[in-house]
Amino acid sequence: MPRVSGTRDIFGEEIKKINFLESKAREFFSKLGFEEIRTPILEYSEIFQKSLGEGSEIIMHQMYVFEDKDGKEVALRPEGTAPAVRFYIENLMNKKPRTKLLYIGPMFRRERPQRGRFRQFHQIGCEMFGFDSPESDFYLISTLSFFLKEIGVEHKIDINSVGCPICRPKYSQKLKEFFSNKPLCSDCQVRLKINPMRILDCKKDIQIVNEAPDIREFLCEKCRSSLKNVVDNLKKYKINFEENPKIVRGLEYYTGVVFEVFFPEDNLAIAAGGRYDLLVESMGGNPTPALGFAIGTERLANILMKKIKEDEKRDGIFICYTQEGKEKAFEFFTKIISDLHKFENIQKEENQKMLNELINEIKNGRIDISVEGQKSLKSQIRYADSQNFKFVIIFGKDEVINNSFSLKKLESSEQIMVSIKEILS
Ligand SMILES: [Zn+2]
Ligand SMILES: [Zn+2]
Repeated sequence: MPRVSGTRDIFGEEIKKINFLESKAREFFSKLGFEEIRTPILEYSEIFQKSLGEGSEIIMHQMYVFEDKDGKEVALRPEGTAPAVRFYIENLMNKKPRTKLLYIGPMFRRERPQRGRFRQFHQIGCEMFGFDSPESDFYLISTLSFFLKEIGVEHKIDINSVGCPICRPKYSQKLKEFFSNKPLCSDCQVRLKINPMRILDCKKDIQIVNEAPDIREFLCEKCRSSLKNVVDNLKKYKINFEENPKIVRGLEYYTGVVFEVFFPEDNLAIAAGGRYDLLVESMGGNPTPALGFAIGTERLANILMKKIKEDEKRDGIFICYTQEGKEKAFEFFTKIISDLHKFENIQKEENQKMLNELINEIKNGRIDISVEGQKSLKSQIRYADSQNFKFVIIFGKDEVINNSFSLKKLESSEQIMVSIKEILS
């Protein structure tokens, strides 16, 4: 039985990294006052049509839309901002107009199958409602940068302004004129009619795009000074960024400062966002300045996965025993499972480093025990190795006599004897 085309199962090292990222994001952003929301995966398709625009790539080609049995048109959410705005208008706009929200979860887009693109993917997103000043743009961008630093991901931020309804039409018109007699690819021929700014995004017409007029020369006073303010602050606080007038973002609701974050090694975008001051109002709310970003969870997990060395793939402890050690082994297993802190008391000068590692694995790694005690110790240890455990703990005849266990690090085969007096008292 095949999977739905373009979808995938997530397991093994990747699910561990995704769980790590999501819990890290929860911890990091809630500390900064972002409140987590979990909106439905299913929404009325209208909220995306209104927010993303009928001419957008997502609405035209990529959204999963179907008629529900009551005749209403529903969609699998293709992104998280529109649902967050719907939620904000319904629940917070009047009670708490200035709000910071965090969402984590799956999104769905029926993209053309290509490497690294999937039809169900995951995002971690932050949205800020009721924030007007350029300092809030700086705050959001630097917060994202600090988060990536915190999880050890190198990154480069490209920033730009897409202008506002006052200045953007002039630029758009200028682009239309510029591109109209150029030999553009077939996609861009369509873009030229619907939204010429999206041509700047094209990966085929790079040569032509490089000569296109620069948006910064067309920005109105307000847009120009906001961009400058953000740029100055990023410089001042040494956030690694570049101004890039080609960043236009695919979604049509953006106004003002926008940004994309790249992993320098392969230049793939790992996060993107910007300001969308008109979206709340256009979806039926009060006029509310707002901004946000979304992180591609799988992209980030992939970067983390490339970084880990063989040794770091291992985790946890596996308890093995001979017939003589069986009883002690199970006693030990039930004790540590029921009281993970028991170990913290073990002080043993000569082997403290390895014991500290053991304590760490007991707290953060897997804990398991062999259920094949009739098999040889050697075969139990081989099993633990094949399952990528970091340590085996052995209860054999000698260990029982000495009231201790042997601790063996599978990667290096280092082995020490540890007294269990303190643990099984
Ligand atoms: Zn403007
Ligand atoms: Zn093109």
